[in-house]
Amino acid sequence: VLDESRSEFVSNVSHELKTPLTSISGFAEMMENGMADNSQDVRRFAGRIYTQAQRLIALTDDIIRLSRIERADLTENVPVELRALCDRAVETLRFTAEQKQVEIAVTGGPAPVRGDRQMLDELITNLMDNAVKYNRPGGRVDVSLSVQDGLVCLRVADTGIGIPKEHQERIFERFYRVDKSRSKASGGTGLGLAIVKHIVELHSGKIALHSVPGEGTEITVTLPSYVRRAAVSIAEGTDR
Ligand code: ADP
Repeated sequence: VLDESRSEFVSNVSHELKTPLTSISGFAEMMENGMADNSQDVRRFAGRIYTQAQRLIALTDDIIRLSRIERADLTENVPVELRALCDRAVETLRFTAEQKQVEIAVTGGPAPVRGDRQMLDELITNLMDNAVKYNRPGGRVDVSLSVQDGLVCLRVADTGIGIPKEHQERIFERFYRVDKSRSKASGGTGLGLAIVKHIVELHSGKIALHSVPGEGTEITVTLPSYVRRAAVSIAEGTDR
């Protein structure tokens, strides 16, 4: 079973890489054959080559990241405050959100967990990035944090295009995209949610999806909360 999914992955990767490469090769060939005979054409063709090369870089970056995460145990296991990561993600996404006329709000916290800071950052950024990317002009992204029964709950809700029922189970698979052209147009690789799912599993968490086409999507991640046992260490200190 492992071998099968491995060879399927290799064939998917090859296909994903081949598309931009074919287009880069095509434009370069046209230029070589003198089909760009003024500086405006040259610039236009170079622009296409640049865009496709950027796409290749995004793809290989995500593939490297995913395989690193799939191989890794937690490389770092430190206290991390999710509210701080959410606030930072808002800053990172501010420009894209403004351009898409999507408003982002974060509520709740503190929400302390233990884990790998960089991975948790990536988890949150990926979810919020999708919530902006698959939204509509004038839409909203609401991120909320809460703690209950020893679990931290991170909820990312958007008012976007939603995900049809028949696709909902599959969107966490590598390279799976509901609408390939929309995903590509916004720089998507189809690996974001596969990466998210692995990060959640590495942190002994759970992920749940609720989505209504045309209304929006809500993704909920629950992780064990981290409680600093200050009282205990003080007591231990005075004992000694
Ligand atoms: P991509 O790079 O294409 O965004 P992801 O793995 O992050 O890849 O997501 C997989 C697919 O799931 C997307 O292509 C999109 O079709 C769908 N999707 C993810 N998040 C959302 C969302 N918040 N709203 C609607 N569709 C989404």
